[in-house]
Amino acid sequence: MKPFFTRRDFLKTTAAAGAGSALLPFVSRGKSIPISSPRYTKGLVVASANGLRAAQKAMKIIQSGSDALDGVIAGVNILEDDPNDMTIGLGGLPNADGVVELDASVMHGPTHRAGAVGALQNIKNPSIVARYVMERTDHVLLVGEGALKFAKMHGFKEENLLTEKARKMWVKWKESLSDQDDYLPPHSIEEKDVGGDWRGVMHTYGTINCLGIDLHGGISGVTTTSGMAYKVPGRVGDSPIIGAGLFVDNEVGAAGSTGRGEANLLNCSSAMVVEYMRQGKSPTEACVMACQRIVDHNKERRLQDNRGRPNFDVKFYALNKNGAYGSASIWSAGAKFVVHDGIKNELHDASSLYKSEE
Ligand code: ASP
Repeated sequence: MKPFFTRRDFLKTTAAAGAGSALLPFVSRGKSIPISSPRYTKGLVVASANGLRAAQKAMKIIQSGSDALDGVIAGVNILEDDPNDMTIGLGGLPNADGVVELDASVMHGPTHRAGAVGALQNIKNPSIVARYVMERTDHVLLVGEGALKFAKMHGFKEENLLTEKARKMWVKWKESLSDQDDYLPPHSIEEKDVGGDWRGVMHTYGTINCLGIDLHGGISGVTTTSGMAYKVPGRVGDSPIIGAGLFVDNEVGAAGSTGRGEANLLNCSSAMVVEYMRQGKSPTEACVMACQRIVDHNKERRLQDNRGRPNFDVKFYALNKNGAYGSASIWSAGAKFVVHDGIKNELHDASSLYKSEE
C-alpha cells in the first residue's frame, strides 16, 4: 500500500506549514484527476447577497488561472476579517455565554474532498482552518477544542473575536427576558408559543456562501458563519455540515445556503439541491424545490406562522457545471444573490415561495 505521506511530501508540506492564515495555493489538483466540466473562459461566482466584495475577489483569483477554491476562500476571508460584519468571523455575535463560536465548510469539486470546522473559538478564519482539515487530515469535520488545537498546530493565532459592539449586544440580550433563548421546555409539535418569538424580532442570522467555477471547470464552494446569535454553546449549524450548508459535485454543480440551519440539517438541503440539478432541474428550480421540501417537513407549530408557513427563512444559492445559476428563498424579504459572470458583479433577484408582506 502506498504510504499516505512520502518523505518528499512531508518536506514539501512542512515547508509550507506554519503559514497560519496565509492562503496557500491549491496544491492537490493532480493531472490524474479527471475534470469533465466544460472549460470556462471567464469563470463564474455566485454568492449570498452580502457577497459582492467576496465575489469580486474570488473572480480576480479565478481569472488569474487559480483554482476556484483559492478564489472563494479568499473572497469570504474579507468578511471573516471585517469586525463590522456581526455574522461572520471576527465581530460575529456570540453564543449564549458570550463566546464567539464559528462554523465553516469548504468543498472542492475536482477531488470531491471537503473539510469543515464547527464551534471553533478564537480563530477568525474558520474557512481556512476547514481547508486545512480537508488537506491535512484524514477527516472531514473537527469541532470545538479539537478544532482549535488543530488550528494552533498549523500556526493560526488565537485572538478575542468578541468586539465591543457584539459584547454590548450580547449583554443586552442576556439582560432581557428569560424566554429569549434557545432552551425549550418539553413541548408537543402542536404547541405554538414555546420559548417566545424573539428570533423574529432580533437580528440573529447572517452567513456567507460563495460558489465558483474556475477556468479549468473546477467547481468549489465555501460557507462560513458565526451561526445563530446567542445559540446554546456547542450548537453547530448547517454551515459546516457537508450536504446541509454546502455541497459540490463537479459533475453537476454546487449549492449552498444561509438562514435557519436547523431546517437544512433536517433536510440535507444543499445535497438535495445538487441532486435536483442532477435530475435535470435548473439551479433556480432546484433551489425552489429545496425550499418547498423544508416547508413540507416543517411540522412543529412553534415554527409556523398562523397560516402554517415557516416563521423563519432559508435561502439557497446554486450553479451548475454549464454555468447556469440561481437562488431561491422561502420568504421574499431580502431575496437577492450575487453573481459575478466574469464581466459584471451584481445583485440579482432570487425566487421565493412566499411574499413577506402577505
Ligand atoms: N445558517 C446559519 C446557521 O444556522 C445561520 C445563517 O445563515 O444566518 O448557523
